[in-house]
Amino acid sequence: MSAERRDIEATKKMKGLMGRYFTELMSGPESGRKTAWCTSVGPGELLHALGFNVYYPENHGAMLGATRMATDLIPVANARGFSPDICSYLTSDIGSYLKGESPFNKMNLPGPPKADVLVFNTNQCRDVKDWFQFYAREWNVPCIGVHSPRAVGDVDKIIIEAVAKQIKALVPTLEMVAGCKLDMDKLKEVIALSKRCTELWKGVLKTAVAVPAPLTFFDETIQMGPAVVLRGTQEAIDYYEVLLAELEQRVADGVAAVEGETCRIYWEGMPIWGKLSALAGQFAQLKTAVVASTYCNSWVFDDLDPDDPFESMARAYTELFICRSDDRKERYMQEMIATFSIDGVLYHDAKTCPNNSNNRYDLPRRVQERTGKPYVVVNGDLNDLRLYSEEQTRTNIEAFVEQLAEGVN
Ligand code: SF4
Repeated sequence: MSAERRDIEATKKMKGLMGRYFTELMSGPESGRKTAWCTSVGPGELLHALGFNVYYPENHGAMLGATRMATDLIPVANARGFSPDICSYLTSDIGSYLKGESPFNKMNLPGPPKADVLVFNTNQCRDVKDWFQFYAREWNVPCIGVHSPRAVGDVDKIIIEAVAKQIKALVPTLEMVAGCKLDMDKLKEVIALSKRCTELWKGVLKTAVAVPAPLTFFDETIQMGPAVVLRGTQEAIDYYEVLLAELEQRVADGVAAVEGETCRIYWEGMPIWGKLSALAGQFAQLKTAVVASTYCNSWVFDDLDPDDPFESMARAYTELFICRSDDRKERYMQEMIATFSIDGVLYHDAKTCPNNSNNRYDLPRRVQERTGKPYVVVNGDLNDLRLYSEEQTRTNIEAFVEQLAEGVN
């Protein structure tokens, strides 16, 4: 008998919201607004404050993965000279551009909007810079960014000042492209909106502390859309207020995302976009809820502060898990495992994203030593399904849940 997963009502609103965002993006030239491409954990607030349409190509990368269009498009980028071993968001997105095919076409939209400026932050990886530089060469537009430190222990004053200076240094080019001066009051207002979005998104994720959890990682990967692409806007806040209220009601009513939840798992690493629904189905059948992840928490920016715009952006975008040292990562995971009453940890080793694959330097064993919680490693990829074995993964997950169930009972 298959266990039933419950749909979240608010999702319909979210789909409408994302649809409007995409439609407005494509109308950039007619609206007279310039378009800035931004990395997903880049200084989006600064771009909103300058009146840009802000487009996040990693979101398009995830759509290419979820629709499985990536499988046919990655080889197109490979043929152009981008290795199959580098980020498969990059290769699927560039393949999509070269072939002129995009999931946006199914929404009757032409495809990603052309950039007037591209703004990266290497806090997550170097690939984003190389990705953006491809388009800068294609369109002869500026590509500017922030080079963040990686493997950071303490995020101290020296680091914050250095990153804040780099963010400030973006302003003259951005003003030139936008054709207006940065209004500091507007920037503070956008940061305040972003901060509120973060608080609500964190609240959404925290509802899964409840046993049984009212939503799972697989729901969160869908629900995180507005936190990624619309943070800094009132629309994102309005949406998360509705979603949070629904989830709190679920908790109050004891409604489970996975009926008969018996095991709780932490997902460390990238989603496998083309297999979300198959994996969600398998976990539901196993009465196991994936209740927390590093990935979905990457859009929680506690440090944003409208009274200290540049330094707080620098702190928020450098405190991220992905650019921290392993000892910080261990502590973070230990806290998450305790907070969400986790029984075991699944590490996704994504072949083309070493930056988000944390199983490669002995971290799983150290976290197990700290917490006593077992782990499993699943080999795969965010977008390139040629690197994923469905059968092997299903078997590994089944065996892992069996092992956990023995520990739980
Ligand atoms: S962090 Fe990984 S998935 Fe994201 S852009 Fe970089 S290499 Fe690609």
